[in-house]
Amino acid sequence: MTSLPLIQIASDDPTGSTSRRAAMPPRHLADLDLSGRQAVVTELGESAFRARQISTHYFGRLVREPARMTDLPAAARDRIAAELLPNLLTPVREVATDDGATRKALWRLHDGSLVESVLMGYPDRVTVCISSQAGCGMACPFCATGQAGLTRNLSTAEIVDQAVYLAGVAASGLLAGSPSRLSHVVFMGMGEPLANYARVVAAVRRLTAPAPEGLGLSQRHVTVSTVGLVPAMRRLADEGLSVTLALSLHAPDDELRDELVPVNQRWKVAEVLDAAWHYAERTGRRVSIEYAMIRDVNDQPWRADLLGRLLTGRLTHVNLIPLNPTPGSRWDASPKPVEREFVRRLRAAGVSTTVRDTRGREIDGACGQLAAAAVTQ
Ligand code: SAH
Repeated sequence: MTSLPLIQIASDDPTGSTSRRAAMPPRHLADLDLSGRQAVVTELGESAFRARQISTHYFGRLVREPARMTDLPAAARDRIAAELLPNLLTPVREVATDDGATRKALWRLHDGSLVESVLMGYPDRVTVCISSQAGCGMACPFCATGQAGLTRNLSTAEIVDQAVYLAGVAASGLLAGSPSRLSHVVFMGMGEPLANYARVVAAVRRLTAPAPEGLGLSQRHVTVSTVGLVPAMRRLADEGLSVTLALSLHAPDDELRDELVPVNQRWKVAEVLDAAWHYAERTGRRVSIEYAMIRDVNDQPWRADLLGRLLTGRLTHVNLIPLNPTPGSRWDASPKPVEREFVRRLRAAGVSTTVRDTRGREIDGACGQLAAAAVTQ
């Protein structure tokens, strides 16, 4: 087995060798399913019904502050809030762009770690892009988050609370020209979701369970994006979830992918695509192939043709992402004519292909630009 000195995986044991900086947050109701919440509440000597009541506030009405849950007796509310509603996310900054249709939120977590989320309004849907880790250990050289390394995994509730908070922002009508209800979640913020597997899967279950157990989103409207951790992709295929899997491929050949997505040194293009097709087969879901278009690096016509050959006849869709150059990067986005030729060749091979719009570029909220620690210094 080749060693991967560049890639960092968090210890999942919060009491283990991790530093104080990497401490996990206190437990929150979104870490637990409804019966778990009921167990906590009854242990406090309160009626199990109270668990449903606070869950209805949190997931049904998007009320996150205990002080606003006024139908609970104050004493019971305080006791329950101390156990199940710790403050997990402190907003540090919220910025809007794209005429108010895109909003980025920067949060401070209980241990001082910083993470970001992005809310995007469209005429027919509202999407939130959430983080699964503080930082990222995957070291992709074109990604801003990847440069700072991994701080720690987020807890299930820290992941879910980003979506609940921003669903509340959407519900308050702040996104002009969009529905007020959050409909889509993409795990395309900071971190590698499948490196924080159990908490991400629990977060997906919470986001998609009907209220008051969860937020009630459709599983089909949740996308989990990965660099291609093959065993975890295979495990996800067996979870019985119908979420969309997005694979950050970025190169059709091992030589280049070894550099752009260093985990490729461990799991090669052929293996990662096999795992993707396994996922498509098990779930019936089309797998998204993400491909950042980098000028003179991965955008040559021969790479489009090779990619086309790898994907033709498969249940897949290619999302080309114009590269968002990160500070100090030697790379740039491909010119539009080169991008158009790449699209043309993929489509000629029968592969469904679109180019992603790049929301939030000027607020450093676009794909790969989330690097919270850097922007606050
Ligand atoms: N770790 C996961 C999810 C996070 S990033 C993953 O890698 O899939 C979501 C997408 O943005 C990934 O496809 C990632 O490769 C891409 N991305 C990262 N940096 C980018 C940049 N500077 N420009 C364009 N896309 C970028």
